[in-house]
Amino acid sequence: FDGSDPPLNITDEHFLDGLLTANFSYMSCRSRYEFAVYHHKHSSHKPSPYLIAKLRKQEALQKRCGPGTAAHKKAVRRLDSGEGVVDNEDGCRYLVYISYRGLGNRMLAIASAFLYAVLTERVLLVDGGKDADALFCEPFPGTTWLLPRPGGWFSNSPLRRLQGYEGGSKESLGNMLQSGVITVSTDGNVSWSTPRPPPYLYLHLSGAYGFHDKLFFCGAHQRLLGEVPWLFMWTDNYIVPGLFLTPAFSGELEAMFPEKEAVFYHLGRYLFHPTNRVWHAIKSYYHANLAGVGQRVGVQIRVFQKKQPPRSVLDQLLSCLRDEKLLPETTDAAGGNSTSSRAVLVTSLSSWYYDRIRDEYGGRIAGGVHQPSHEGRQRWRDAAHDMRALSEMYLLSMCDVLVTSGYSTFGYVAQGLAGLRPWVMPRAPMWAADWREGLDPGDPPCRRAVSVEPCFHAPSAYDCAAARDVDLDKVSPYISRCVDVKYGIKLV
Ligand code: GDP
Repeated sequence: FDGSDPPLNITDEHFLDGLLTANFSYMSCRSRYEFAVYHHKHSSHKPSPYLIAKLRKQEALQKRCGPGTAAHKKAVRRLDSGEGVVDNEDGCRYLVYISYRGLGNRMLAIASAFLYAVLTERVLLVDGGKDADALFCEPFPGTTWLLPRPGGWFSNSPLRRLQGYEGGSKESLGNMLQSGVITVSTDGNVSWSTPRPPPYLYLHLSGAYGFHDKLFFCGAHQRLLGEVPWLFMWTDNYIVPGLFLTPAFSGELEAMFPEKEAVFYHLGRYLFHPTNRVWHAIKSYYHANLAGVGQRVGVQIRVFQKKQPPRSVLDQLLSCLRDEKLLPETTDAAGGNSTSSRAVLVTSLSSWYYDRIRDEYGGRIAGGVHQPSHEGRQRWRDAAHDMRALSEMYLLSMCDVLVTSGYSTFGYVAQGLAGLRPWVMPRAPMWAADWREGLDPGDPPCRRAVSVEPCFHAPSAYDCAAARDVDLDKVSPYISRCVDVKYGIKLV
């Protein structure tokens, strides 16, 4: 639909079976209405009525307490003046997600923060990520999820310091536990040593976080966090599997998500709607290059180690395509419209792989080999660059088969939105001195992911009740190890 009217005969499918509200105009955000048209083939997961009810409740909360309301003004004033009690009158509490890292990491972290906000009945506000409004439509009707830039130049508001918390904060959960602001009794009770809870608390949940910050995933600590009006969350991870392992949340999450492997599938489809400009680019590219073939094969190549020889990455990919019979060895069935015809979409920062894949397969595949962009390198605070990255994640999610690079959150977003289990090419860990380190020479070039869920790279293995580390592979029937990250876990 390229006209200004919404698609005719709007059905439940356009609103993703009740996941989306109809409280947005078509013109303001077309992708909300049109996403389903491009993704219908994979939509086998239905949101539960309970999840839908929780989303509607969260939308009401976001509107009642969000920026521009009297409740929000009051909460900011109390924060700035250091008052540490939740206002009883309106009961509004906030979770601010501090944006950092690449777009894939950011999307996984925002989805995680959103779920935590729903579970704890907090308003989610997104900070930083200066181009968030160029990339995504507002997800909640009648309000904004973007944290307003606080105060004047001389303001001393904690909200002005958010981006500076990179190295942690003395108001973090971990530091408060270590400095004795929060005390833990021998029977495991957690309490404040101060007369009142602090006005805000910082949650450090990224990569190399320490033991005390990981206690975030304990039930007792969660009860205490509930008393803090403002939480600032710094994470680049998909912490959702960790929330499932937190006793305070597991029952609620099981009720919301009867199908455990569809959590990001639903949350991603609920939260992320490319703006009209990005969506227009996605659709144009799709119709010009990928429409009208029987099958679209998406290949995502992400190389983390500079010294990794490109040839080895290419060999791994070609072996994967061959071993798993993902592309034809002989000429593709004739005719672009044949159901057995294929097109290949390549995404990568470099064009070198695209050239080689086209040399190898271009003549054999009726739908051709395509690469939308080759940015050369990752860029920061560059809206146009991020818009291209977002387009490519969505184009990948419109494919029927995916081959992705292990470790990459860019690929996780694509597979999650698509609802596809990709073939994952394992990678040596990013910190390995030699790119081969950690890879078994006998390993296959790629493995099928065990579910469509993203991998939580840095989970806590600490069992709070038992006070010891456990094997996360064995604690729950719906938590499993990831094929690409040794210590990572995912929902299955
Ligand atoms: P990750 O680092 O692979 O986990 O994924 P992120 O999305 O968090 O960070 C990588 C960033 O590099 C992306 O957000 C893009 O800015 C850029 N990038 C990486 N691969 C590609 C690609 O294939 N296409 C485009 N357009 N950008 C990419």
